[in-house]
Amino acid sequence: MEFNTSLLHAGIDRKERHGATLPPIYQSSAFEQETAEGLEKIFENKAPGYCYTRVGNPTITSFENRITKLEGGMASVACASGMAALFNALMNILQSGDEIISSASLYGGTIDLFQDLKAFGIKTNYVTNNDWNQIEAAFNDHTRVVFAETIGNPCLDVTDVEKLAEVAHAHGVPLVIDNTTATAYLYQPLKHGADIVVNSSSKYINGSSNSISGVLTDSGKFKWDKEKYPGLSDYVKFGPMAYIAKLRNGFFRNTGACLSPQNAFLNQIGLETLGLRMERQCNNAVELAAFFEEQYPDFQVNYPGLTSSRWHEIAERQFEKGYGGILTIRVGSREKTFALINNLTIAYKLSNIGDVRTLVIHPASTISLHSTEAQREDAGVFEDLIRISVGIEDIEDLKADFAQAIETISK
Ligand SMILES: *Cc1c(COP(=O)(O)O)cnc(C)c1O
Repeated sequence: MEFNTSLLHAGIDRKERHGATLPPIYQSSAFEQETAEGLEKIFENKAPGYCYTRVGNPTITSFENRITKLEGGMASVACASGMAALFNALMNILQSGDEIISSASLYGGTIDLFQDLKAFGIKTNYVTNNDWNQIEAAFNDHTRVVFAETIGNPCLDVTDVEKLAEVAHAHGVPLVIDNTTATAYLYQPLKHGADIVVNSSSKYINGSSNSISGVLTDSGKFKWDKEKYPGLSDYVKFGPMAYIAKLRNGFFRNTGACLSPQNAFLNQIGLETLGLRMERQCNNAVELAAFFEEQYPDFQVNYPGLTSSRWHEIAERQFEKGYGGILTIRVGSREKTFALINNLTIAYKLSNIGDVRTLVIHPASTISLHSTEAQREDAGVFEDLIRISVGIEDIEDLKADFAQAIETISK
């Protein structure tokens, strides 16, 4: 099946739904089994079934199965937020004394999370994306995972995932990729060597900002070494299921990171139009980026689809269908940035991406507020930078809105 068809039909059991086009919402905290023995079997993982929604729920399973198909993985675990999914994806394999090698151009929340992990003895070594000498030099005996975003948010640098996976694997560690900004529409990291992919489904997957949620997907291909990952030693016997089995049996249920069934339902409605929305958003972003570049030579426009982008060549090679729906502009000063944002009438001024509506934000004073000056620079955040998450509006209306706002500030 091609992408849009699979969004509607892959991983769905029509009979189980009694032919309904949408999945039922099992808005129930707990599930009865016919016998005490039956419940025991489920707790022992000796029989399939549901007992408690924190551990599993059929509406959530339905969402997970569709994401697994979408990302081309083996199994997924849906979480209450993208941050919960990232936390679970990493803490399932890490312990005190372990180290992460991460691209420095990360979403601010992830930088904050890595900072929090320090208190638990987990250190992060930041590297410049695609700087292979620097990345090679960052490995040591404690390195247990490599992490990056397919398209850095809001740096908009593009990670060469295939090459990064090769480097990680040569050192015997897995590659975890945050695919939120690219989405499976542009790129499926698991098909290019990544081992675990994480999506904040609050963003493009949901599409209309009605649910916070996240999901992680395992390729099932990484061979976990008992010595290096002692937490997985009881699970390696499950082969490709080792990582997910450990997560479901332990960290995920114990941290109470589950998604709500209602939000799993809403995400599935969003998911079905991901391809159509991304196609439109990528096209709009290309047009808007070109418009800024042509009309406002004083601005610095950053978009992987522009030949002026340092990451255009990798984007061109790696993505078939577009360059994503996010671009940034630098307009000269913090004052101008705020004035421009305040004068927009169509775009929403808020902290989010991936909505059907166009969204703008000044990252330095919001999502990167807790980052140090150096961290901000690495993440491509500057005092005069505006991030634009382009929506599905008619492009002429978007251009006109930005043009009038820019005219107001140039007066
Ligand atoms: C939003 C975002 C997250 C966090 O997701 P939440 O659902 O808000 O917890 C993680 N990574 C990236 C790239 C994001 O844009």
